[in-house]
Amino acid sequence: MAQNAPKPRPARGERTRAVHGATPHKPGPMTTPIVRSATFSFASLAAMNGEQDRGRDSAYYQRIAHPTVRACERRLAELEGAEDALLFASGMAAISAAMLALVGYGDHVVALRQSYGGTHELLKFGRERLGWTFDLVDARKPETWGQAFKPRTRVLHVETPTNPVNEIVDLAAAAELAHARGARLTVDNTFASPVGQRPLEFGADLVLYSATKSIGGHADLIAGAATGSSALLESLFDVRKTFGPIIAPEVASVIERSLKTLPLRVAAQNANALDLAQRLSAHPGVAQVMYAGLASHPRHALAARQMKLGFGPVVAFDVRGGASAAEETVNAFQLVRHAPSLGGVESLASLPAFTSHVHMSPAERAEAGIPEGTIRLSVGIEDPEDLWADLDQALARAAAFSTSGGPAR
Ligand SMILES: *Cc1c(COP(=O)(O)O)cnc(C)c1O
Repeated sequence: MAQNAPKPRPARGERTRAVHGATPHKPGPMTTPIVRSATFSFASLAAMNGEQDRGRDSAYYQRIAHPTVRACERRLAELEGAEDALLFASGMAAISAAMLALVGYGDHVVALRQSYGGTHELLKFGRERLGWTFDLVDARKPETWGQAFKPRTRVLHVETPTNPVNEIVDLAAAAELAHARGARLTVDNTFASPVGQRPLEFGADLVLYSATKSIGGHADLIAGAATGSSALLESLFDVRKTFGPIIAPEVASVIERSLKTLPLRVAAQNANALDLAQRLSAHPGVAQVMYAGLASHPRHALAARQMKLGFGPVVAFDVRGGASAAEETVNAFQLVRHAPSLGGVESLASLPAFTSHVHMSPAERAEAGIPEGTIRLSVGIEDPEDLWADLDQALARAAAFSTSGGPAR
């Protein structure tokens, strides 16, 4: 008898969810139609009121919510295994919405000294204009974080791996600390991506993304996302409604397309990144490689526990000869493109002292553990041999520059 009973179907795997979503499809178009309509009409006031009441599921007015955007949000939530997701006009819009939702006048935030530069700007803005305060803690010294909490600390905000030097935060320990102090843990998970690390499973309350990076993945859009419980996202939804940073349906449609290949792209980028990190470590022109996939990284074991598809696309390294040799290396790249941003299919290199961390003084960068000559390499999906050949020739140029004492101009 039991033999004929239908077997319970196992939950869909990650790649299947990425392509098809978590639930059986309805017959019809392969992709979510792009509904280009800023407003929607109704047969009666009762019908309009009913639609308005559907909040983030509504098709009423595009600034509030939108069916094409909503379909992409559901797809992202299902992929990450979150209760819900919201999309924003940029990563900073998502992080701003989180802070505006969770932190009020007189409240306090604890964040990493190593946080994304835009997040620092946001925290300073709030201190000057919105009446909140914040303290920065060092990602490398979690034992000191407890001292930074105040009675009105509402949020502990972390990133892991951190930008650019790949410090790793113990998410379960951070969640425990935040919750013991009555605060929430928010995690900027941009570096790892929704398929590379699931902070919600370690106790985080809210996960934030620059969808401009791995989620979009092709350097062709700006967007942000937040994932978490439906209840907590309701307060971010209120902020999005009020301030208005929803994305356009066309952008949501491109993100939905990108989500289908996200597990494949992230796996390929992470594998390439590990390969290059290992080769760079053995290169005589390289002084130091900062990548959590290397056994020599102080938090390698923790990263291996928290990260599912490898250790992220970003490899940070210092070349011998310091800042000027780093500049020469970046100038010499032929295949790797010199640009800010990360997580896309194309390999990009930048000098954090002049891009993501330009707002800090050299002393502040030193305090955050970011050497002046660090190169941040975001590894794409190209053939690893081509990438290595480019790194190798650029390092040779930098070494020739260092020994000749200047550029051959
Ligand atoms: C790029 C980035 C952001 C900001 O995202 P935008 O989409 O540029 O607004 C935030 N956090 C991290 C870790 C980032 O790399």
